[in-house]
Amino acid sequence: MKYISTRGEAQAIGFLDAVLVGLAPDGGLFVPREWPSFSPAEIAGFANRPYAEVAASVIGRFAGDAVGADAMAEMCADAYSTFSHASVTPLKQLYPDLWLLELFHGPTLAFKDVAMQLLARLYDHVLQRQRRTITIVCATSGDTGGAAVGAFKGSQNVRLVVLFPHGRISEVQRRFMTTASEANVRTVAVDGTFDDCQTILKNLFQDSVFSRAVDLSGVNSINWARIAAQCVYYFTSAAALGAPQRSMRYCVPTGNFGDAYAAYVAKRLGLPIDEIIVATNSNDIMARALNDGRYARGSVSANMSPAMDIQIASNFERLYFEAVERESTETSRAFKAFAEAGRLDIPPAAQNAMKGLFSAHAVSEDETARTILATLNDTGEVIDPHTAVAVAAARRSGKAGGVPLIALSTAHPAKFPEAVRAMARIEPPVPAVVQAQAKLPERIDRLPADAEAVKAYVRQFAGV
Ligand SMILES: *Cc1c(COP(=O)(O)O)cnc(C)c1O
Repeated sequence: MKYISTRGEAQAIGFLDAVLVGLAPDGGLFVPREWPSFSPAEIAGFANRPYAEVAASVIGRFAGDAVGADAMAEMCADAYSTFSHASVTPLKQLYPDLWLLELFHGPTLAFKDVAMQLLARLYDHVLQRQRRTITIVCATSGDTGGAAVGAFKGSQNVRLVVLFPHGRISEVQRRFMTTASEANVRTVAVDGTFDDCQTILKNLFQDSVFSRAVDLSGVNSINWARIAAQCVYYFTSAAALGAPQRSMRYCVPTGNFGDAYAAYVAKRLGLPIDEIIVATNSNDIMARALNDGRYARGSVSANMSPAMDIQIASNFERLYFEAVERESTETSRAFKAFAEAGRLDIPPAAQNAMKGLFSAHAVSEDETARTILATLNDTGEVIDPHTAVAVAAARRSGKAGGVPLIALSTAHPAKFPEAVRAMARIEPPVPAVVQAQAKLPERIDRLPADAEAVKAYVRQFAGV
């Protein structure tokens, strides 16, 4: 299986190289040169199978012969044994026609664990063979950093540095990162915003001398292995509710558009998905792009669903590439223009192609709050604010004659206790991991929002 860049000017590379490199050298994103596919019989066969086995099949299709079937099966079994629920990502029925797909039973209680646990094993698999140690630097608005620490702590071949905006993430989120005692992990509170952290990270990657010296790699949401791992739960949930005989609709709370794009990929692989509903908070760049045909950056506002406080949906370039029928010259033009002007107009034919599958709703803070309360009153379920954005959009989108609608539940309510307490006026249950880490000492370094300061820090950590 070969991977090509959406901008058409990078060499096609194999699965493992695409995973290690992250961003393509021409600035584009890697996508499979051809889409693999699953037959209806194969999809039917996923029903009632252990999650790790379905994961090995689906991710194995993307890896091709780059990873042996036994090694893939072992990595998936190991990765998903860290989840506290036997079904890994269980379905829960909320209303007669609406299900929740719970993606938060991993070690750090957010859906990022699903991909990150596998990614860490893939990295170790490759790096051990290459006898190589790399440095991963990641910028986080909260959940990615915790999931990365949870997955990579103790790794022999990876040093991990997490940058987070000082004072702008919840205590529970912070402690998932800062209470790790393993020597290969460092956490840095940056005096700035999440956007500052991302800008610093970009600067690090663009400095080729630095990035070669520390053997820099990234695990952000454009990494293909994360997309591949996120496809899996679309297959398990759809098969559980009757696919391929029955089609499904999904509602996905969206920030960087990784999870919603993974639903698109699942459809390309043969899963019968009729509609993908994109749910955003007031940072509605994706809702505006799909509804108005203009993908335009806005200013970021702070919401009670902070993992979605993003105004550049990085993975959108991959959908655009497909919607313009894989015209890499056009994709390259459009996203270079976006980088400069902060907006791009989607050609009408491409917008129509997207609207054939996607719809989108932006959900206000008020509606999110009311949805947390209504869900509790109607069903007894306590949902987190990200999940509430999805449930609100799902309930707004209407019925579709017997086609089940599955809303993704991306975080455990205990991760955002302040919001849940304020809205539902109840104390969310506190899982044992959260109780345990509340008593552990934290290790945090603090740096100014300055790329040179971060580079010096990382060099010292890497010993180069
Ligand atoms: C990251 C995240 C999202 C958004 O996912 P994207 O793939 O960035 O669209 C939604 N909810 C939670 C809890 C998250 O951590």
